[in-house]
Amino acid sequence: MDIRDLTIKTFHEGLVNKHFSAFEIAQDFFKYIEEKDSEIGAYLRLTKDMALSEANKVDTELAQGKNLGLLAGVPIALKDNILIEGEPATAASKVLSNYRAAYDATVIKKLKEENAVFLGKTNLDEFAMGSSTENSGFQLTRNPHDLERVPGGSSGGSAAAVASGMAAAALGSDTGGSIREPAGFCGVVGLKPTYGAVSRYGLIAMASSLDQIGPITKTVEDAAILFRAVSGKDEMDATSVAVKSRDELLEPKLEDVQKLKIGIPKEYFEGGLDKEVQAAMDQAIKLLKSLEIEFKDISLPHTKYSLSVYYIIMPAEVSANLARFDGIRYSRVTNYQLPITKLWDIYFNQRSEGFGKEVQRRIILGNFVLSSGYYDAYYEKAQKVRSLVKEDFENAFKEVDVILAPVSPTLPFKFGEKTDDPLAMYLSDIFTIPVNLAGLPGISIPVKKYQIGSGELPVGFQLIGRWWREADILGIGRYYEQSVNSN
Ligand code: GLN
Repeated sequence: MDIRDLTIKTFHEGLVNKHFSAFEIAQDFFKYIEEKDSEIGAYLRLTKDMALSEANKVDTELAQGKNLGLLAGVPIALKDNILIEGEPATAASKVLSNYRAAYDATVIKKLKEENAVFLGKTNLDEFAMGSSTENSGFQLTRNPHDLERVPGGSSGGSAAAVASGMAAAALGSDTGGSIREPAGFCGVVGLKPTYGAVSRYGLIAMASSLDQIGPITKTVEDAAILFRAVSGKDEMDATSVAVKSRDELLEPKLEDVQKLKIGIPKEYFEGGLDKEVQAAMDQAIKLLKSLEIEFKDISLPHTKYSLSVYYIIMPAEVSANLARFDGIRYSRVTNYQLPITKLWDIYFNQRSEGFGKEVQRRIILGNFVLSSGYYDAYYEKAQKVRSLVKEDFENAFKEVDVILAPVSPTLPFKFGEKTDDPLAMYLSDIFTIPVNLAGLPGISIPVKKYQIGSGELPVGFQLIGRWWREADILGIGRYYEQSVNSN
């Protein structure tokens, strides 16, 4: 057994059949991470003591004959914008260098109840702003398939950790594509749940009307298992919602999947796709057709406004959410030379020195679009167009059940290729952002099995479902994956 290939499912089977202990596996993971991560840079920090003591507890309970859930002992990586009580959480920002979380995020609480083993916290673009993890305040993360290329972002650390086998599964967060794009770039599965399906309590906020936490895994089945465990109504997040009928997530039936009709939105295929991405989409569609799933051409006419709308609404929310990091709270400096004569100096030092360029750019943009005289012209207008984007999807879902789209227009790009051109970087998310604007669930699935070392760069395709219908996209994904594996 190679730990790099472990999935949630195979780990669980091995554990309950006593092929290994949770402790052994956790130790093996740390050994492998110590070897491998100097090359990849996926982890910002390991939580070894916590992991080993949890693994031990799982083994003890198993020996006592306790019935353990699917996630017991599973080695999981967590994006470093998710809070674990008593542990640092930096969101890859120097501003949070001295911060330790005072409480567990709801997803952490749920995973602790399931006895999952937390390996460590993974790298991201600072405050989740970016598409390549190059905006991290601390380090680069490399794509395991090609070390000269980005892993995508902002959950690049989580995706790279799962792809390289340094975690069995991971959690990321997705505001405009940050789970799906890195999953696509690293050849793993990434699910952005319906807005409200997973509690955001204890996620360091980027843009609160768009943020969702979700799984990054090796298989679609694992994504379903992890999603099921972390989702649900939470009294600490008023936007969270209780969703019923959870079992179909884990056991989709082929005949149900074959009743679903998939829409191809013409706006997502009108040029601008790398030829490799186009070829991969054709391959995915062909395989889905062989599963006897029906297709239909559709139109989402307001797609072209999505990026503009996002870059008004998101920075507006960012500027409000990041106002709290003023240096009085969350100070990155612990030894100010007293006396300080001007409060302003504290703010200035904290925010100018602490925040990176991209974060500053978005705070300034956000303050601009919210400022008096501009609010109506930008923010309010953007909210209206956001409704039109959402209506496009509502109309499409009268004709089809699921929408297929590319995840990204390009293959994973090289370091530095887009860092000097924010617009080029922003365009990486052109196919994922509309899904967040509408609050829909979306999943990124590798078109085929991509072997590390084969020289081939991964491409993901995206399935977008109706609100609360994760089961549809996970169901199609499951059968897609099965036929990829059997070919
Ligand atoms: N890449 C997008 C951005 O920079 C999305 C980020 C995200 O989903 N967190 O805003």
